[in-house]
Amino acid sequence: GQYSHRVSVSGRDELALLADEFNELTDRLQTTEEVRRRFVSDASHELKTPLASIRLLTDSILQNDGMDPDTVQEFVSDIGEEAERLTRITEKLLALTRLDSGRAVARAAVDVGGVARKVERMLTPLARAVNVTLSLTLEEGCRIWALEDDIYQVAFNLMENAVKYNLPGGQVLVSLTKTGPAGDTVLLRVEDTGVGIPEEDLPKIFDRFYRVDKARSRAAGGTGLGLSIVRDTVRLHGGSVSVRGRAEKGTCFEVRFPLWREEKGETP
Ligand code: ADP
Repeated sequence: GQYSHRVSVSGRDELALLADEFNELTDRLQTTEEVRRRFVSDASHELKTPLASIRLLTDSILQNDGMDPDTVQEFVSDIGEEAERLTRITEKLLALTRLDSGRAVARAAVDVGGVARKVERMLTPLARAVNVTLSLTLEEGCRIWALEDDIYQVAFNLMENAVKYNLPGGQVLVSLTKTGPAGDTVLLRVEDTGVGIPEEDLPKIFDRFYRVDKARSRAAGGTGLGLSIVRDTVRLHGGSVSVRGRAEKGTCFEVRFPLWREEKGETP
């Protein structure tokens, strides 16, 4: 690979320790490089699929003079859908690459409860359309040091999934509490009574482009990037995210952030 420089020194002296450190660093760089390469290759693949469909649809219209207007209409509308899909993927890819520590400078104290209510308002039409009930239980004063747009995206992705992968008549329960031994952790829990995630898929669910059911995700306008954005954003804010299946069926996501306290000054 690109980082194949290895140093070999025998003996437990300082030089040997340095060599160990150097070799470890090389391994880490190699992993980063591999992750980056896989990401580019996965992304290209995801972009190629809609592009190939657009190509195929335009070719059939162009090569078929006598095509009836209804079919042409149908094909053009399919082209529009594929173009929309490309837009969604590129927007999310951009969102992922924008997530770097440079954003830390624009942070402020964000009321997570307020953000959750905003997301609820945004999702109400969709939830009504699929007959899913959203209910929120929010403790006051759950503030974190963050960029509000980033936290909005985290709550939105989790709550939208909970609606999208639900069943008619199902429920989404969102709760926000302060937890931890010192009460200095903000816990956002998004639970649903939906289709659930098979046990063996749970560890892979935060990977880029990973979808349990490609067809269902595609039909719901999914890209497989929503949860990677959640994971990266949460980590960037010093938090963590976990997922588990609910015993009564459905899924439960938990996000933990360090609580922001006025007296602590600006950074948590
Ligand atoms: P997508 O754009 O496909 O929704 P995500 O990264 O948000 O991508 O989610 C990845 C996959 O995880 C989804 O395709 C779906 O299979 C599964 N998933 C996410 N949230 C839920 C949920 N609440 N219930 C069941 N499956 C879910």
